[in-house]
Amino acid sequence: SGFRVLTSACLLGQPVRYDGQAKGLADPRLAQWEKAGLLLTVCPEVAGGLPVPRPAAELGEKGRVRTEGGDDVSLAFHRGARVALALCQRYGIRLALLKANSPSCGNTRIYSGRFDGQLVVGEGVTAALLRQHGIEVFNETQLDQLAQALDRTAPAPAAD
Ligand code: SF4
Repeated sequence: SGFRVLTSACLLGQPVRYDGQAKGLADPRLAQWEKAGLLLTVCPEVAGGLPVPRPAAELGEKGRVRTEGGDDVSLAFHRGARVALALCQRYGIRLALLKANSPSCGNTRIYSGRFDGQLVVGEGVTAALLRQHGIEVFNETQLDQLAQALDRTAPAPAAD
């Protein structure tokens, strides 16, 4: 396969978010990469077995993920993260484009775990697992850096 970037499904317009919406990103680079077949999409929360729609959840104390109602959904989040990692390993993918601020996909900041609308420094469950396995994780505000990483790691042209 030519897949090079594991990509949050909601960024490519798939309506998989907790509220049943997508967060499709209109950027010509993304469209070009998609057309070239570089992007393999996954929604870790759906892959982990959660439905659409689903209650919003946040990553909080002791690495547990809970809904505002207090249900512990950590297992599903971790299952989804392992699915995402397995996809990267199966296809030799070393780069990821994940939705910012999500308790699964956020790569620099996440909601606080107190459902107070505050962002704190931290990583979602999937972003952390991928990074721990050497996969470079970018978010939708970091397309420049992702483009550079794609150039830097471009496969060598096949010899004649
Ligand atoms: Fe998007 Fe990731 Fe949330 Fe799925 S888990 S809806 S891919 S941000």
